[in-house]
Amino acid sequence: MTIWHPFTQHGIAGDAVHIERAEGSYLYTKDGRKIIDAISSWWVNTHGHCHPKIVRAVQAQASKLEQVIFAGFTHERAEQLAGKLQKLTGQDHVFFSDSGSTAVEVALKMAIGYWKHTDKPRSRIVALEGGYHGDTFGAMSAGGRSVYNDLYEPYLFDVEHLPFDDMVNGFEKILQNGDVAALIVEPLVQGASGMKMYSAETLKKLSDLCKKHDVFLIADEVMTGFGRTGTMFACEQANVKPDIICLSKGLTGGFLPMGATLCSDKIFQAFYSKDRSKMFFHSSSYTGNSLACAAALASLKIWESEPVLERIQAISKSHKIAAAKFLQRPDVSDVRYLGTVLAIDVKTNNDGYLSDLAPKLYAAFMAQDILLRPIGNTVYILPPYCIKTEELEQIYDCIGRTLDQIRDEGQQRAA
Ligand code: PMP
Repeated sequence: MTIWHPFTQHGIAGDAVHIERAEGSYLYTKDGRKIIDAISSWWVNTHGHCHPKIVRAVQAQASKLEQVIFAGFTHERAEQLAGKLQKLTGQDHVFFSDSGSTAVEVALKMAIGYWKHTDKPRSRIVALEGGYHGDTFGAMSAGGRSVYNDLYEPYLFDVEHLPFDDMVNGFEKILQNGDVAALIVEPLVQGASGMKMYSAETLKKLSDLCKKHDVFLIADEVMTGFGRTGTMFACEQANVKPDIICLSKGLTGGFLPMGATLCSDKIFQAFYSKDRSKMFFHSSSYTGNSLACAAALASLKIWESEPVLERIQAISKSHKIAAAKFLQRPDVSDVRYLGTVLAIDVKTNNDGYLSDLAPKLYAAFMAQDILLRPIGNTVYILPPYCIKTEELEQIYDCIGRTLDQIRDEGQQRAA
């Protein structure tokens, strides 16, 4: 039996790096290496690996209640977490699941279900070009069509995608024909398509259009949530209150898989009835898992007891200085940053997810004990919030050095 790894072409991949333990910003390998986790282990980690307060909370919970069926049952940690999430977002109801993809599936089912139950069925789902919402079929359908989902294209349901550079006009045009059930967006930053960023003003305009046309706005904050873009949630920067919010990744501080879909009372009420056939038909076995809830509560407590926002601001400040330097490089075509995310587009005549540059850069960074996983020709840094300024400097230097190397190799080949 071998393990089939995610987003891995086993025909060319080397052996998986065996990690024995992790602490703060570092991953420690079985053979003694110490690697900086500059992408927060696929964007999940927030306060650093194995933060002792979350470790203790999970340990304590495990010896009390590890898991209980969530249909007809509840528990203290889930109730506490629901209360916290309500305070943080102003939403009225939370549906727990176990990943970002399932949080999105639930959001889409809530939106479609609302319109069905209110006898005004609307069929159109609108999303953004280049969006990514997960790898289950509903989430893939909402996502932009790309190499990620090419193989399954015929099985995806129709979603209309707004052109990235002209979202507001595109949305206005679509709205003219009515029948739009929901707009789903990654607010401010589209992660998987290469940390593409758009303005808070655009997000606000999209939200205003949703309100005007009575269309649900689904904010997929799976990546952007919990401080990643500089505020607790990205939507806050646009002063936007979505109808539905999808959360996962940083929700548990990166400790345990958990999804949460938050919604307004209006949506909950559409399913609320004496008629059992109108209940929300969705569940996963580990819905509301108590260990995940305990981790999430401990993570949110760290926000209250440690200077998390200051850490995020310090990262932002370093990114800003580094961005100006990277932008001066002739081999860099664009640099963007927001909150803790810094993205650098490297000039190449071979871009897109399958660019040869990505595996080459990945290997070069790993050889320097820094985990960065470029998307196509975009190198991005998305670190745990506990990262120190010196460690960020180390990462910027490593990127600069590696780009120099690649430039020199190119020049030698040309000579
Ligand atoms: N939405 C967004 C914005 C994401 O970035 C991701 C994962 N990268 C997902 C949804 C899917 O989350 P998961 O991998 O936990 O299913």
